[in-house]
Amino acid sequence: MKLLKERIRAEATVIGSQVLKVDHFLNHQVDVDFLHKIGAEFYDRFKDEPITKILTVEASGIAIAVATAWFFHVPVVFAKKSDSRNLDQDTYTSEVFSFTRNNSYLMKVSRRYLGSGDHVLIIDDFLANGRAVQGMIDIVHQAGASLAGVGIVIEKGFQEGGSQLREQGLKVSSLAIIESMDENHIAFRE
Ligand code: 5GP
Repeated sequence: MKLLKERIRAEATVIGSQVLKVDHFLNHQVDVDFLHKIGAEFYDRFKDEPITKILTVEASGIAIAVATAWFFHVPVVFAKKSDSRNLDQDTYTSEVFSFTRNNSYLMKVSRRYLGSGDHVLIIDDFLANGRAVQGMIDIVHQAGASLAGVGIVIEKGFQEGGSQLREQGLKVSSLAIIESMDENHIAFRE
């Protein structure tokens, strides 16, 4: 997605060699008009699939999933990362190692909101080593649902997640794939 690549080039900051910061339009402050365009782009890429639910993980995935769901007219289900008294006890659960937090957490989805009749599109903001997406795929399998594919806003192609998922035969569609990055330069895969 040309506009996304231009914004990353002009506005993102690179932390170390591994982390891209896009807090001002995606991860902290959210540019809703831009998100609307992202939702439209995901719709265009997955509109031929009979999607019934969009699955993401809190917190940053939620806004992107909602922007996409406007176009599909289906509910968004977001996996929870922490226990709360609000959450049903009857959940699908998957253990995930977090790239940004550097520890493991239990990703949980209530059994009420995902079932064997669902055809699921997974959406997330970043794809790095693929653990968050693998956790969501695990939950889709536990539910007996089918998987339409995975939509990612920014994939870091120099980390292993994307190639591992594609080797599994999954449709992974990333709006921008970063081939390499440092403080001075960001190179995209064409
Ligand atoms: P993975 O599970 O693929 O290793 O990491 C993906 C998750 O970690 C995403 O849900 C995202 O929130 C976070 N993440 C991974 N890399 C980055 C990054 O470079 N920048 C930001 N802002 N988040 C990232």
